[in-house]
Parts: sequence; C-alpha cells; structure tokens
Amino acid sequence: MLGNEAIARGILEAGVIIGAGYPGTPSSEILPTLAEMQKFFPHLKLEWSVNEKVGFEVAYGGSMSNARSVAVMKHVGVNVASDAFMTACYAGARGGMVLISADDPNCYSSQNEQDNRYFGLHALVPVFEPSTPQEAKDLIKYAFDFSEEYQSLVLFRTTTRLNHGRGDVVLGDVSLMNREYGFDWDRSRWVCLPSHSRVLRMRLLERLDEISKFADDFPFNSLQISDEKINGVKYGFVAAGIPYSQLLDALNFYGVSKKVSILKLGLVYPPPKKLIKELLKASDEVVVVEELEPFLENIVKQIAYEEGFSKEVKIHGKDLFPQNGEFAGEIYLENIARLMSFSYKRVPVPDNMLIIPPRLPILCPGCGHRATFYAIKQIEKKMKTKFVNSSDIGCYTLAVYKPLEGIDTEVCMGGSIGLANGIAKVQSKTNPVLAILGDSTFFHSGIPALINAVFNKNDILVVILDNRSTSMTGFQDNPGTGITISKEPGIRVVLEDLVKGCGVSSDKIWVEDAYNLKKTVEKLEDAVKAEGVRVFISRHLCSLVESNQFRTQQIIPPTIDVDQDKCTGCLICINKFGCQALNFSEDIKKVSIEQSVCRGCKVCIDVCPQNAIYEVDA
Ligand code: SF4
Ligand code: SF4
Repeated sequence: MLGNEAIARGILEAGVIIGAGYPGTPSSEILPTLAEMQKFFPHLKLEWSVNEKVGFEVAYGGSMSNARSVAVMKHVGVNVASDAFMTACYAGARGGMVLISADDPNCYSSQNEQDNRYFGLHALVPVFEPSTPQEAKDLIKYAFDFSEEYQSLVLFRTTTRLNHGRGDVVLGDVSLMNREYGFDWDRSRWVCLPSHSRVLRMRLLERLDEISKFADDFPFNSLQISDEKINGVKYGFVAAGIPYSQLLDALNFYGVSKKVSILKLGLVYPPPKKLIKELLKASDEVVVVEELEPFLENIVKQIAYEEGFSKEVKIHGKDLFPQNGEFAGEIYLENIARLMSFSYKRVPVPDNMLIIPPRLPILCPGCGHRATFYAIKQIEKKMKTKFVNSSDIGCYTLAVYKPLEGIDTEVCMGGSIGLANGIAKVQSKTNPVLAILGDSTFFHSGIPALINAVFNKNDILVVILDNRSTSMTGFQDNPGTGITISKEPGIRVVLEDLVKGCGVSSDKIWVEDAYNLKKTVEKLEDAVKAEGVRVFISRHLCSLVESNQFRTQQIIPPTIDVDQDKCTGCLICINKFGCQALNFSEDIKKVSIEQSVCRGCKVCIDVCPQNAIYEVDA
C-alpha cells in the first residue's frame, strides 16, 4: 500500500466519521482514498474544504459533536489552520480528533521545508510519527483512541517518503462506533473567551503532564539496549519516522544493528524521559538521527543535562546529519561509517546507466495558463513597460521559467493579491501591478485580499486563471466545479458572482476563454489600462482534464500542423511561447508539431506571425 492509502485505511478502521482538508502534496491521496471507500462505508462524511483552516474547523466541529474526525493537509497548510488549532488544543477533543500534517523535506512540491513537529511543542499537543506504512495504519488508528482517552488533539506528522512510499500492510477490522452523535452544549469548554481559556489552559497543561507520564509506556516507542562496543565505543541511536527505517537499513548494512542501543519513537512529543535516560546510561555516544531541525536532539540534550549525562555521553545530531533536505540512503551509510570508523565508498554510477538529463518543470501542452502569460507578455511589449506580476501557488507558478518568465513573486497561498495590495501602494503607475492566481487558490485565500483591495481602493488587476481544477495536487474539484470529493454534484460557486460580491464593479470584470488569444490580448489590455480594482478571469479547463474527457467521450481534438513552406524558422512559437509539442529541425530550419504531444488547443496558430500553423481539415 501507498503510505497515504495505509493512513486512510487506519482512519477507516478507527471508525472515523468526518474527514476534511485541502489538497496538498504529499497529503493529497488520503481523503480521496477514503472517498473511494464511501460506497462500502456510507457513514463516512468527507469533503474538500476551501482551505485548511476551514477543513480543520469542519473536523473539529465533528469532534465537538462526538464524531471521530480527521483534518488532512500538507505542512504549510497547518500554518493556515493554526489560528483554529492553537485554541482548539485548549478545549481538546471530544470525539477523537487527529490533524495530519504531511511535511515535505527537500521542498519537493512546497515553498518551504518547515518542520511541523514544532507545532506540537507550540500547541502542547502530542505528536505521533510513523516509520512504515504498516505503522502508519496502526498508529493513526491508535491515535483516535488516544485522543479520546486524553481528550487531546493529536498531531500526526508524516514526511513525503512515508506518504508516497509503499509497503505491505496487514489490515485490521473496520470499527463502527456505537455511540450517540450530537453537539454537547458545554459553553465553558467550547466558548474560548478569556475567563474560560485561563481554565482550559490549566487543563491543557495537566493533559500534557499526564501524556508525558505515559510516554515511556507508549506502545509505538521501543528501546533496544546493547552492551556491545564497536571500536571501543558503546553507541546509542534515537530516531523516529522514516529516518528510523533508513537508519535500521544502514546499521544492517554494516551488520551492527544488534550491537547498538536504539530508541525508536512513535510519540516524538512529549518525550519518554525514562527511556531516554536508560539510553544515555547505556551509551558512550548517542546519535540523534532526524531530518530538518534538531527537534529530538535538543530534547535529548536537555534531558542529558538535567540527568547529569552531558559530560559522560557525547551527543551527536546536526554535527553529523544535515539540517536541510531529505536524507537519501547514502547519507546514513556515509555518516555511520564516519562515526564508527568503517570504510565506505559510494557505488560509482555504471557507465552504461541511462542518465536522464535534468529538465525544468514546465506547463503542459495545451495549458491555458501558457496562453494567458503569453498574452500578458504581448501587452507588456506593446505598452513598452514591465508589469509587476505578483503570483501564487499552483501550476502557473511554473511560468517563472523561460520562455514565459511571467511571475515575479510567490510566497504563499492567496499571497498574490495581498502582496499586490502593498506593491501597488508605492509602484510607479508606469508598471501596472497584477496579481495572478488560480481558481482554487482564489477560493482558498484570495477572497479576503480582494475585498481588502476594494475597501482600500488599491490599484491592482487580479488575473484569475480559472482552469476548473486543482491540478497541481491531482485534479481535485473545488467550489468552481461544484463537484464534491464523493464526485456528487454540490452547488457551484460562480467566480464572476463571487468577485462582484467582493465589491468589484461589473464594468471592471472581464472574462475570456484562455484559448482565444486575440480576444484575451484585447480584453486584458483594456483591463490593464483601467484603474482601481479590476478582475480578469481567464477560463479554460485544464488541458489534462480536458484530454481525459475527450478520451472517455471519444472526441477527437483538432489536428494542428505547420506549413513548412510558410515557416521561416523564426522560432517565436518555441522561444516566446514554448509549447513542448513544437519541435525545431536543425536540418531544415523549420518547426513541426509532435502529434502525440499536441492537444489541439490551436493557440499556436495565433502565435505564429507567418500564419504557418494551421488546423488540418477533419
Ligand atoms: S512562429 Fe511560425 S514561422 Fe516562426 S518558427 Fe514557429 S511556425 Fe515557423
Ligand atoms: S495546438 Fe499548438 S499550442 Fe496547442 S498543444 Fe498543439 S502545438 Fe501546442
């Protein structure tokens, strides 16, 4: 099973009723896997929420009503949810409540690699971390029992390699909770006004104390003690999550896994103090193996100091293992060799190994975003100026690369409009300020910033790239499609109406099909030249979603070709527009179209100044 499938299975086995969240790699498969099971387990109530904060609140409302509930998101999503999370932890859980944070060491698909174990420390909430898909399934199931026993929220932290790795998983039974559901009118608990919160804060501290006392007996923590020495040294290791599994592989590689002491943690916060003390007592040197921040290392060092081991035991951590990125197997092998004075040489890459040339990620062929960014460039050229293109998180962020080079900022979800508000306050009028973001991102967190722009009379043009999909994370639906996670019709939220509702006047809203390049350039130029808060909606279904629909409906897209007699080899279509279906032949100095890649969007027809690109008659 994929790690995320195993997590979904554990959620199901735990008798969870409510699951909510926002898609984000590497967490995105968890809720859809549950949604696939809905036909067999109709008690599941699932949703893609508009953002992580709402997703967390939906789940927490379920917990208040005695339903086991899970909120699912990627690590940066927890920042969005944290406003609710940091106070919900005071009132705690009624129905078991787990927040899944899927962290992304190495920023494989994220803007940062923040270490969300610190959210547990910050919120005084226990942090669980599984090291294999099997443990992920078992640990999350246990997390709901634990949450109810201690009336505490649980932060379930994973990393990409766990989410997207695979392993054998032994399934358990699916429990259906036999209990009454419904809200409990306990205002002293759920109304977090200051007089209540002061009391709840004391309860939170008591809960953490109770959990700390239990940490040494936590069933997913284990301690192996060895008296053996390696080159005269007794070694001890502390690890959790994927680093534990990889550490074990590396120790087995050197045949020393039984000759060292190992503390494996499933509960990474609060720490099991007695177990750490026993490990320190049994070791001359302790190595804390963890990706990203020295979270466990600092805990172990603190306990070593408090218990009087800091002079006797040498504690390693970030002096050996890097504080950035995801650890590959080589890192463990090299560092253990260095530590234990073994010899290790990297296996050289065989000469006959196929080396895949590095390639930049780019927008797909037929992507409407490419057409919109190309149109923006055309208008900049015509107006002989440079726009400030404040942008956001989504497929369109790839427009930062050549040849489009169409975005200038990307910080966080919905940040494009907020940043544009600030930039426009000081930017010269000769450089119009655009905020460019996708439909899902606009629903997620663009709306408040648009209202802010209207309210404060900021001078910006918001370009919403409406491809009716949350494509970057796996083509999830959103309020603009009106299809729920269960693939049932919900109520579609119409972007134009929403924008009007935010206070943008009707004459400042433009809508165009992204594939209609000529009209897009025309209307977008009007929008750029207008004043005040303007919104341009560039709409076309994601080309991958559309081509899948064509395939299932047996629709043949238009065939597009290049008239070689007309093609002058100017390369505008490749160097300025850059659809990857367009190929240049060095031999004949002409462009051709790779038909297996072309989606038949026809935009390149309008790009070619020589009218060399044409639609082949059906
Ligand atoms: S833009 Fe037109 S003329 Fe220029 S290389 Fe491409 S197909 Fe040929
Ligand atoms: S029609 Fe042109 S722009 Fe569209 S996918 Fe084919 S080659 Fe690319």
